[in-house]
Parts: sequence; structure tokens; C-alpha cells
Amino acid sequence: MHDDRSLVESRLKRVLDERIRPAVYPESVPLEVSIWTAPGEPVPVAEGLAAPRTPIAAGDAWGAPWGTSWLTVAGTVPEAWAGRTVEALIDLGFDANMPGFQCEGLVYRPDGTPVKGLNPRNQWVRIAAPAAGGEQVLLHVEAASNPVILDYHPFLPTELGDRETAGSEPQYRLERMDLAVFDETVWQLVMDLEVLGELMAELPADGARRWEVLRAVERALDAIDLQDVNGTAAAARSQLAGVLAAPAAPSAHRISAVGHAHIDSAWLWPLRETVRKVARTTANMTALLEDEPDFVYTMSQAQQYAWIKEHRPEVYARVKKAVAEGRFVPAGGMWVESDTNMPSSEAMARQFVHGKRFFLEEFGVENQEAWLPDTFGFTGGLPQIIRNAGSKWLLTQKISWSQINKFPHHTFLWEGIDGTRIFTHFPPVDTYNCSMKGSEIAHAARNFKDKGVARHSIAPTGWGDGGGGTTREMVAKAARLRDLEGSATVRWERPAAFFEKAEAEYAHPPVWVGELYLELHRATLTSQARTKQGNRRSENLLREAELWSATAALRTGLPYPYRELDRIWKTVLLHQFHDILPGSSIAWVHREAEATYAGLAAELEALIARAQRALAGDAAGGRDLVFNAAPHARSSVPAGGAAAPTAALPGSAGSGSGCTVAARPEGGFVLANGLLSVTVDADGLVTSVVDTANGREAVAPGTRANLLQLHPDFPNMWDAWDVDQFYRNTVTDLTEADEVAVVHESDDAVTVRVARSFGSSTAVQTLTLRAGDRRLDIDTEVDWHETEKFLKAAFPLDLHTERYAAETQFGYLHRPTHTNTSWEAAKFEACNHRFVHLEEPGWGVALVTASTYGHDVTRTVRDTDGGTTTTVRFSLLRAPRFPDPRTDQGLHRFRHALVPGAGIADAVREGYRISLPERRVTGSAEAVRPLVEPDHDALVVSAVKLADDGSGDLVVRVYEAHGGRARGRLATSFPLAAAVPCDLLERPWDGTRGEVTADGDGVSLALRPFELVTLRLTPAAG
Ligand SMILES: [Zn+2]
Repeated sequence: MHDDRSLVESRLKRVLDERIRPAVYPESVPLEVSIWTAPGEPVPVAEGLAAPRTPIAAGDAWGAPWGTSWLTVAGTVPEAWAGRTVEALIDLGFDANMPGFQCEGLVYRPDGTPVKGLNPRNQWVRIAAPAAGGEQVLLHVEAASNPVILDYHPFLPTELGDRETAGSEPQYRLERMDLAVFDETVWQLVMDLEVLGELMAELPADGARRWEVLRAVERALDAIDLQDVNGTAAAARSQLAGVLAAPAAPSAHRISAVGHAHIDSAWLWPLRETVRKVARTTANMTALLEDEPDFVYTMSQAQQYAWIKEHRPEVYARVKKAVAEGRFVPAGGMWVESDTNMPSSEAMARQFVHGKRFFLEEFGVENQEAWLPDTFGFTGGLPQIIRNAGSKWLLTQKISWSQINKFPHHTFLWEGIDGTRIFTHFPPVDTYNCSMKGSEIAHAARNFKDKGVARHSIAPTGWGDGGGGTTREMVAKAARLRDLEGSATVRWERPAAFFEKAEAEYAHPPVWVGELYLELHRATLTSQARTKQGNRRSENLLREAELWSATAALRTGLPYPYRELDRIWKTVLLHQFHDILPGSSIAWVHREAEATYAGLAAELEALIARAQRALAGDAAGGRDLVFNAAPHARSSVPAGGAAAPTAALPGSAGSGSGCTVAARPEGGFVLANGLLSVTVDADGLVTSVVDTANGREAVAPGTRANLLQLHPDFPNMWDAWDVDQFYRNTVTDLTEADEVAVVHESDDAVTVRVARSFGSSTAVQTLTLRAGDRRLDIDTEVDWHETEKFLKAAFPLDLHTERYAAETQFGYLHRPTHTNTSWEAAKFEACNHRFVHLEEPGWGVALVTASTYGHDVTRTVRDTDGGTTTTVRFSLLRAPRFPDPRTDQGLHRFRHALVPGAGIADAVREGYRISLPERRVTGSAEAVRPLVEPDHDALVVSAVKLADDGSGDLVVRVYEAHGGRARGRLATSFPLAAAVPCDLLERPWDGTRGEVTADGDGVSLALRPFELVTLRLTPAAG
């Protein structure tokens, strides 16, 4: 037989496009439309419903950027339509080529009841089925004219990303605004033909099934009278019934579809718009659940539920009902789908605490899965946190975006730094916006790497970010794919049902050890520095506020600020969302974030001051106290306590001497304190740092440290997200100094100030050596006015090592210093928390930071002496122009330190020290004893707080920080009635693996490498 495939396939496309799809709505009449535009920000629903309207018609422009318009549509169902299905078609001016990211609407009845959302690919509103002739139609639409930021030519700088710069030009033009007859038979025929046409295209051309489908499609097209599609659609469908009824092969891949809308909590729109995006999509989805009995929808991010609860109670009532029925499924267990690279140990833990607790309290639901489809990489600390939150599974899709290497598994055990293993699934459909297209289903089946031993995968299905979620078309297609020859099978399922099956069928999944590094979006560790510093500062202040408030509560009875801390934590957690903390949002988001962080800092400072005042006593007492919130003692001040300051004696730490500074004949200075001798040359660069105890030089010969380096930085796409490897090809060393001068000189400390100017910017650095400290402090102030540049601070070290340590949550992980494989080469920019540490046996260097996350480590071998130079570079600033055209312009301050002769214990200690400065308070108390005090350096207290349940119990979280075994004792300074190991939600938990034994005044602990333990300590009565 002749091969006429392309003829039939082309025929199918044209007849579908030009005849069958238009026949879905065979008759229509225009609606009367009127509009009111809110003068500024969105108004409450009642106000929008009541506002006076003026007429507007299809074709008219509406909608300034970020504006809100209330439309009223009115009409009468023609008498002739009695008994038929009638829908309103409301096209706000959508560009259907983009499923979301533009204008949107939420439809209300006159009484304020939400009906459903309006989205680019979801423009219908059911009026009646069957309709009564003469029926009056009156609906209101809250329409948001959000501008398109990511356009056809993506990543062009735009001023639309902030209401303050966006102007007032209308963004949209009303399109079709009609009442129409909906012909369900024709719509079903469209679904039949789309499913079969898309299946056919994926089937092998030499297989019989492809030809059977092709012939059936041809017969269906023959059965259609092109002048009477509505009258012949049923006949066409009957020609397709046979091929649609043929069952899937027994070995077919099995897809658990779950309705979903990935809604970024802020991104190309401000936080306030997400509140409405979520309301629109959930209104859609609760409506779809009522229409479609098999459909299951899942939504993550407790924050988004909290928003609907607060701002759209009428929508929330429907969500609660659907959750109770088990069909609207809260997914994951985090406050938001956060970044996981940068949040601190505690913040990462609290994401789960607040997320899981919200779902438990609101819905009585406790999830076992972490749901992070879109997060930009996953730290080795995360598995233990997931396990300690009482969860056991992880879903993400993002690693499929890696530029270089294809991940070898879709279902596997992910092992973290402490050895915890989490059953993890990457959906092989490679998207979290599956639309049930045949190409997606076939790709999932073909792409699945665990074939032969596993058969199930998951497909999050629906349009996110203003696309309105799953459509009725996706549900119709899924129904046809339930059991269809030639296709993977599809069932709507809850994530938990998928994970249970996937785990049961896969007895010995492969294991991946260490971080899940995303080989993309590496610049999100640096972009929007002020947002990142706001996060870091808030995390540190929260630690202090909890510690001192708990101490004051137990010691003085000062009321513990439960409600304030709960609210502040949730605000910090929200801003760790995977487009806010990473710096990939529009200017509006980052401008607001900066202001929010400033407000939080003021509140937290006040909480800290209040607690410290209660502990220190009346200021008239005249005694100085030094409070130490770090987990290690400093000078004479215990960790978590306060003591009188020691007299500022040189070398009071027991070694070293007073500080000296000497000018060098060739220019520059030598700073010394008996522990270190630091040479700063005439250019203000560090040419030598000698560890006096053993004469060891830290700086590689022939190099200069603390060198600021400037690279051009114009990635191929995703400007705020990406730095491409070629940025390194070109570099300018900022060696010219405007000033190199000693600005402080005393026994206690010596400081050299170095000022530079470059491009349109300036950088002022101070290098300080203090008595008693084997550490060079470096404070950097940059007034940054560059465009598309990357600023790094380089420390070339005379160290030979295969690997280095970078701190992450509850420990650190190792990364290689070389690029043997494509996997290692791809990690050319990576994340650290407070330190990176490099060592040869017996001697190492720590570089600590209070400010930055991104860094790189490279190695070279010197021609002169054959030694290895290992260079650590902190990433300070970038200047991308999309989506914020003025990213990072202005003043920035950074604090780093170089610590020669540091072991891993020193790196941990100095990392905390630089992040948590001492506070001096004048009062009447002599000292404040810490509530808890570990006797082992590796037992690091990560949080001291009162239990969230208000019982008055103390909650203490401790982890092993050095990567070894730690056996020690946590002494309590109060009589202890009980000590119970808990999970992160502060519930008794038998999953703690370490030994925990309590007695009357402390707890004995034996922890394995990086193990974390949460203890609930009940003080004895009286
Ligand atoms: Zn996202």
C-alpha cells in the first residue's frame, strides 16, 4: 500500500484547526461589557463589585501595568438556545501562545461568590446546561493587567517590573466577549482527535498500531460533513471508538498524573499579586474538581493557603471542603518552595516546621513528601532535615535543566552528608507543567531511566503562574490515556499514592551521595546582594532573639514573644522563596524585600534588647556585660551567656602579643600580632600571611591575596540567574589603589585602609589584625555602578589539596578542586554558608564570610617551584539587567576573614563568630549563665528556644559540626525534669539515632558525623 501518512496527518491538522475546533461554539451573541478601573492597588471584592462602571467593548484597550479593572458582563440567553449548553467566552486580550505570565481574571457572581479564573487557555464560564431561553446573565470579573515581562524576545531589560517605573500605557485589548452555545459532542471529538493524532506521531512508523490509528482518523474525517460538523461529529466519533478502546500493553509505563499549578510566590510579579494568582487558580481548580470526579489536584506552599485564608475566605471555604474530600491535596510540607542552597540550618528546618504544622492544624494532613519541583539545586544537608521533619520522600524536576550532565536516575535514594537516605523521584516528563500532550507522555515513558526495575512516574499536570492550573481538556485527555494501546497509562493520583507504589516496586534503588547540584542558575548565589544580606541578617537576629528571649523567660519570667517570632519567621521563610532569595525577581519584589528586612531587623533588635535588658538588670547598675550568642565561648564569655568584659590585654586569648604595624621601604605595611604577620604591598594587596607558630606562608608565592577581580558577565540567557563559564576568559585585576594607609594603630588592633576606583565604581577595604586572633578581618564597601560585570575577591593559597569543605546546613560537604570529569567542571560556581576550608594534613586555611554565598575554587601548578596554588574566590556582586534593570546598583558592605592555620573546628567557630558579633549591655547583673552548655567543641547548638506549644519547655537543637564522632554532655543550668528527643516539629521522636541520656542537670549525647538532635527539655517545677 502507498505511504499516505503525511497526507492524512496534514488533513487532520487543517480540518481540526479550520472546521472542527470552531464548531465547538457554533452560535454566539455579544455580551454587554462595562468597566471600572481601580485608581491604585487592588481593592476589596465588595468595593470592586459596587464601583460604578462605564461601557467598554471588544477591541477596546484597557489595563495600565499592574492595574486592576472590574468588568461587568451582561446578556440574555436567546430563546432559541433553550435546552442547550451555554457558556460565556471572556477573552481579556490573552496571548494564548503563553499559558500564563500575563493578564488574568477572577469571575464573581453578583453576590460576591467566586466562580472561576480566566486564563490565556481557559476563557470559558459555564452559564447553564441546559439553558432556559431568556435567562439573564450577569457576571463580574476582577481583571489584573499584569504586564508581560518575559516576552518573545526574552531577557530584554524592561522598566515594567516595578509599578514605580512601569508607566500607564494600556497593556491589553478586550477580545471576544460572547455568550455562546457549547457543543459537547464536537468538543469530545476534538479531544479524541488530539489524543489520537498526538499518539500517532509518537508511534513507530513500522508498527501496526500507527497505521490502525491513522486509518481510523481517516474514516472519522471522511464521516464529517465540513458544512455540518455539529450534525456529523457523533458519526465521526464512532469511527474512533475502536482504536480508543484498545488497551495499553502490560509493560506500558505508568504515569501518576496530579493536577498542579506551579505558582511562584513572587517572581515576575510582586507578592501581592501572587495572593490573587493563587485565588484565581484555586477557584478554577475547586470548580474543576466538582465537574470531574476522577480528577485530583495538589498545591504546595502553606503560605499560599494562608494567603487565601486571609484575603479570599470565600475561595478558602471551597479549598477546605475539597481538602476534606481528599481531592485537593496539600503537597510537600514547607512554608514555601524555598531555595535550599542558601537558607541556614535553622531556616531550612523551620520551612518544614511551619509548612507541616499549617497543614496539620488547618487540614489534619501530614505529608511524607518534600515537593520542590523548581528549586535551583539541593544541598547535602537536606535529606537529614526532611527526615527530621517526619517526611521520607522528595520530588523535584529541576535537575533535568542541568546544562551539561544528564542525571542517571529518575527514582533513587538520595544520601545526604550525614548518611540519611531519602527516596527521591525526578518526573521523567521533564516538566512541572505537563499538559497531557502525546509528546510529553511518550517522552516520559522513553526518558524514564529506571525501566526494567520500575514502571511508575509522576506528572504534575497544569499551567502555573497565572495559567489557571489544570484544564478540562487535560482531564479529557487523561481519561483517554487511562488504558490506551501504544501509550503510557495515566491515572489521577495523590503524590503519596505514587510514592507508595514507586517505593514498593523498587526494592534496591540506586544511590546518589551528596548535593544535587543544578548545572544552571549558578549566579543566583550572588544576584541581588541586599536581599541575600537581609536574609542572612534576619536568620542571625532570629537566633539571638530566640536565645535571649528563652533565657529571659526561664530566668526572669519575661513573657516569651511567641506570636512575634512566629510571624517574623514566616516572613523570613517567605522571602526564601526560590525566586526571591536567589535574586531572580523583578525590581518591585527586591525593593519591597529590602524594606521588609529592615523592618524585621528593627523588630528583632527590639526583642533582643528587651530580653537582654531583663537579663542584665537596671542600666543604673553600671556593670558592663558582654552577651555571646555564638555557640562557642569567646574570651571569658560562655556560649549563650553573658559575662563582664575581660580587660583588653594584648594576647588575652593566651597567645600572641600586642599589634604592630611597620611601613615597608618599598611601600605598604607589615601588620603583626605575634600569631600572624601580614604583608600589604604598595597596591594594598596581601602578598604574605605567615602563621608565626610554624612559619607557614598562606599566600602562594608570586601571587597577591584579597585581589578584587572584575569579569564581563553577559550570560546567553536568564541574566539574573546564570553565569556562563566563558565569563572567566576575560578578567581585570583591580590592582591600582587610590589610597593605602594605616587608619588605626593600637595594641588591640591595626587597620589598613585601601581605596580603589574602577569603571563608575569605588571599593574601600579595611584589613584589620586584632590582638589574640589568628585571623585577618576584611571589610569591603563597594559603591557599585557597573553593568553586566561580576566582581570577585580572590585568595590564592599555597595549598595542595584534592578537595575543600564548604559549609551547608548542619555540616559541610566536600567538593573537588579539580575538573577531571564533566560533573566537576560544571560546578564552577558553588554555595557556601559561613566558611570554606582547605587543608593539607596538619595545616589548613579557612575563609569565612558573613555576607556572601557564591564562590569558586580552582588550582594551578606553579612553573617556579612546582607547588600548587589553590585559589578561593568569593563572589561579591553582579550587575545583570533582567529582570531588574538596575540589579545591585549602589552601596554594599561585605565582611570576610582569612584564617590561616585553621582546622575544621576553627572554620566552624570563626564562621559563627563573624556572623554573631558580641553585644555590650550595661546593667546590674554580674553574669548570665547559659541555659545549656555543651562540653565538646563539635557539639554545636543551632537553636535555643521555648517550645512552640507554649508549654514552657525549652527546645535545644544540637548537631555534630566537625564531621566526626562527638561524645559529650549538654549541661543545663536549671534543674532538669525530663529530656525527650524530638522531631523538628518538637514532637517526641524515636528516629534520633544518637545516644541521648538525661539526668538532673544535663544530657549526655553521642552523635555521629553531622547528626542533628532536637531536645525538648522540661525544667523541674519550682
Ligand atoms: Zn518556580
